[in-house]
Amino acid sequence: MKLARIRTHTGVVPAMIDVDGNARDLSRHVHDITPATTSARALAALARVDVAGLPLIAGEYAPFLSDVRRVFCIGLNYSDHAKESNLPIPDFPILFMKSCPVSGANDPITIPKGSHKTDWEVELGVVIGAETLHVSEETALDQVAGYFVANDVSERAFQSEFGGQWTKGKSCDTFGPIGPWFVTKDEVPDPQSLDMYLDVNGMRCQTGNTSTMIFPVKKIVAFLSGFMTLRPGDIIITGTPPGVGMGMKPQKFLRPGDVVTLGIEGLGDQRQDVRAFE
Ligand code: ZN
Repeated sequence: MKLARIRTHTGVVPAMIDVDGNARDLSRHVHDITPATTSARALAALARVDVAGLPLIAGEYAPFLSDVRRVFCIGLNYSDHAKESNLPIPDFPILFMKSCPVSGANDPITIPKGSHKTDWEVELGVVIGAETLHVSEETALDQVAGYFVANDVSERAFQSEFGGQWTKGKSCDTFGPIGPWFVTKDEVPDPQSLDMYLDVNGMRCQTGNTSTMIFPVKKIVAFLSGFMTLRPGDIIITGTPPGVGMGMKPQKFLRPGDVVTLGIEGLGDQRQDVRAFE
């Protein structure tokens, strides 16, 4: 099951995506896709809906959840990416937070004022679907509602050249595209075997597979739950494979007019136009 939210001229409408990739109006069954929708019980009820019988709707993709409360991020989670960043392979998952509002999959990226190093990161995202505290790796995936594509847009100078933590280089406005939808976990039997890619202006920059994560999803969920309660509506983005602009020789960063396209096998694709700050 693929769940989305569509911006229409009458407002944001909850949607289910059919086998052909078309959005179907789900508003007769739920008023919105909310953190509560991620529970196993709510998803089981929606799984009984006949998607082909729902009306088609057109519009842009909004973020697939009405209220993403926290965006947890894992850094340097692919060994080749750690190498291109000239940083050692971490002993534990590296946690940081992204505090900008999430945006729709095809919403534009605005280069922040003063930025010269706006960069891209295709990532597997995880939607938490239950209160999660002190879970084991063996049961961690039971707490997951589904998976999605994310672009962890990053400003490398803001991230690393002004002291302190990475958050300030990760949280600029428009730096949180997610979606276009989230795919329930029953359709993703193995989150550690998914191909992923990212192109800039049609040129392939990132090619990866979630099989090369240093810390797999179950390990990340268990690790975070050892410190704090994860809640429905929280999302985790799990790190990026090699091929970011920072790691290129010479380095390459986004410019106004660029187009970024990215996707993950079975989870959909995103497309972002890059704009100047105004
Ligand atoms: Zn990242």
